[in-house]
Amino acid sequence: MSSILIVEITPADRSLLAPLVQPLRKTFSQSVEVTQAQPLDGSFALNVSRNQYGSTPILSALLEKFEDFEGRILGVTSGDLFVPVLTYVFGEAQLNGKAAVVSSHRLRDEFYGLQPNKQLLQLRLLKESIHELGHTFGLLHCKDYLCVMHSSTGVEEIDVKTEKLCADCKEKLFSKYPGRMGN
Ligand SMILES: [Zn+2]
Ligand SMILES: [Zn+2]
Repeated sequence: MSSILIVEITPADRSLLAPLVQPLRKTFSQSVEVTQAQPLDGSFALNVSRNQYGSTPILSALLEKFEDFEGRILGVTSGDLFVPVLTYVFGEAQLNGKAAVVSSHRLRDEFYGLQPNKQLLQLRLLKESIHELGHTFGLLHCKDYLCVMHSSTGVEEIDVKTEKLCADCKEKLFSKYPGRMGN
């Protein structure tokens, strides 16, 4: 049975992981669980001069660590992620691949000098988790600005889109993976 495994990558806010399980299960119609394995220590991916973590090396480490796992892997960290050509990324995924990673770092209102809002943080993290996992299932960026597969470069854009796949993206997802009826 296809499944999705959520993996904590340090530095991490562990409390954010469990609330992702049910909505991810509902979105992808797959079993979802938080791994019982030790968190992945993200320090190897730290770029000291940027004080950020490389998202691509983290994807490689997830693939290596969970080599025998058949489903998708979603790494969740509170470290600030980057790829060399960009200032930061909210997450990264392998298109049609196995691994994705998301960061809560820039999803926190505190990052923008505002009061903490845990509920909003959790919702933003869910949207980005669905978005990155969507890429692993072959979904590309969507023009519909309400669709979770719409590309977001700032939190304002994440807040505009919903946590749902539009009808087109849903159809693409479930036509590729027949037998899995979404709702
Ligand atoms: Zn994307
Ligand atoms: Zn869409």
